[in-house]
Amino acid sequence: MSLVDGLGREHTYLRVSVTDRCNFRCVYCMPADGFESMPRDELLSYEEIARLVRIFAGMGIKRVRLTGGEPLIRRDLELLVRELGQIPGITDIAMTTNAHRLAACAEELAASGLTRINVSLDSLDPERFSKLTRGGKLDKVLAGIDAAVAAGLTPVKINAVVLAGENEDELFDLVEHFKGPEYVLRFIEYMPFEARWHSCVPTRELRKRLKERWDMEPLGDRLGDGPAVNWQLSNGARVGFISPLSEKFCSTCNRLRLMADGHLRTCLSDDGTPSLRDFLRSGSTDEQVEQAIRAMVLTKREGHSATEDGGTPFEGVMTRVGG
Ligand code: SAM
Ligand code: SF4
Repeated sequence: MSLVDGLGREHTYLRVSVTDRCNFRCVYCMPADGFESMPRDELLSYEEIARLVRIFAGMGIKRVRLTGGEPLIRRDLELLVRELGQIPGITDIAMTTNAHRLAACAEELAASGLTRINVSLDSLDPERFSKLTRGGKLDKVLAGIDAAVAAGLTPVKINAVVLAGENEDELFDLVEHFKGPEYVLRFIEYMPFEARWHSCVPTRELRKRLKERWDMEPLGDRLGDGPAVNWQLSNGARVGFISPLSEKFCSTCNRLRLMADGHLRTCLSDDGTPSLRDFLRSGSTDEQVEQAIRAMVLTKREGHSATEDGGTPFEGVMTRVGG
């Protein structure tokens, strides 16, 4: 039986955070003074993640995305990819990464069964990139993207969070750099977590600016891309817009988030749900874990209430949740 919440939304997509640690400290994701990361023994082991994904797959989850923190700082990630790829019902294993360490492992990940990759990149200016990520090296990320293309993980999706007054002036540069069939460039609205450190640029504003420069044709559902609304630009770029604040998509949400310590976050904005790890470690059977998951999903909230310029911020720290 499929995994349906109290509002009838069916869940087919699971984001799995494999660590809350990160080699970057992006200004929109982490507080300036960092945060206390989870003790290692509280993280789910690969065996525990695989067991949970198997249980989720039995309830209709088809697509899994590995995220973090930075997933590539967890050792031997390709072993997890391989294991998840053997689970009946899982058709797609994707990853979201900052790509700093990707150049060395893209090929192995693809060979292990990774099907798709999203790379987060908000600036093509090395100095600004380093400032936004608090230490990231742009050339390493670009090398990681090239390696992903060479490994056939195409189209590589490039995710850029646009912050008002901070990187919005790079809109055209990003579109020019990532044009061509090997990329899809997606602009994401900044979501406020706990506090509002930055201001989002609504995606309708970005669309307007792009339309003044290039012709744009809607691509509809052709990229099978969840909440992103995609367009073909006349310069050859494919551009998507993800608008959690200005064009909320909560009513069609099909996703769940398994955090690195086993908490199931049924809504991105909500810290509330208990840990599945405790069920695993206290000897629960698969059937008992399934019942616990169904009960958590039934109480999923209707949606978040952050808005472009106010409302209630999301709970917790983004790097813990995994985007
Ligand atoms: N470290 C990996 C990365 O950066 O791709 C995976 C984890 S990161 C939390 C996942 C995604 O969340 C990234 O694309 C990042 O840009 C996005 N993100 C982080 N904080 C955000 C925020 N406050 N608003 C919108 N997107 C955010
Ligand atoms: Fe790390 Fe990704 Fe958050 Fe940046 S967005 S701090 S790379 S988890």
